[in-house]
Amino acid sequence: MFSFVQGHNMAKASLDLALWDLYAKKLGKPLRKVLGGTTSKISSGVAIGISDEESMIQSIEAYVKVGYKRFKIKIKPGHDYEVLKKIRQQFPNLPLMADANASYTFNDMSLLEQLDSLNLMMIEQPFGKDEFFQHSELQRVLKTPICLDESITSVEKAYQAIQFKSCKILVVKPGRVGGLSPSLQIHELALKHHVPLWVGGMIESGVSRAHNVALASLPGFTIPGDISGSDRYWSRDVVKKGIKVYDGDIEVPSESGLGFFIDEPFIDQIATKKEEF
Ligand SMILES: [Mg+2]
Repeated sequence: MFSFVQGHNMAKASLDLALWDLYAKKLGKPLRKVLGGTTSKISSGVAIGISDEESMIQSIEAYVKVGYKRFKIKIKPGHDYEVLKKIRQQFPNLPLMADANASYTFNDMSLLEQLDSLNLMMIEQPFGKDEFFQHSELQRVLKTPICLDESITSVEKAYQAIQFKSCKILVVKPGRVGGLSPSLQIHELALKHHVPLWVGGMIESGVSRAHNVALASLPGFTIPGDISGSDRYWSRDVVKKGIKVYDGDIEVPSESGLGFFIDEPFIDQIATKKEEF
């Protein structure tokens, strides 16, 4: 129905996600079952923003205690190899990865090759989102898998990344690709080509996070995603109970539909405009 609209994936996703929830409720089944999910618990990873080394190490220590299963360090030019090396020395066995958020260029090839010595799970999106060729050149010389995030804006881009060997791992963000329907297509594609997936996260409310949780229960999502607890960004989430991480895991609800419920009184309190359909 949306195919005549070019782009506007976030807007498409908001409707697509709502319709999947409604559809699952009509069937009286949990969303994860309707999507084809096979697990009732998903592992959660956490991202650590750029700051001074001391506070980054302290954050990591705190998140290790919470039990997060994967630690992502944001890097950028001038804040990369040395910082990661220190973190690696401090935590020799930590499941560690680096996310460059597209901040490097082809001139940084040798610096990025240096990261190969740090035993990282992956390097996420070193180059710009359209640079499929550059990523494939880098992946050719790196042992560490490249994971593409910003580049994966559609099913077609996921296909392109796989065909060009631009990466070995893909991030799926339902909001960015236009909802759960295209996310399922990417999942199918990745299974066929044996490319592991994980669900990415943006600064999201509990509503989209709950959809991410359901999606992450599918068998192709073998790497802990960026789905952290509601308390990571909110003092109070817009869903009741919120999303909770226990020992690094999030339970995938078994109630029908999304399995998380909107905190209506709270919405009334904070909304500046409300429309009912
Ligand atoms: Mg990223």
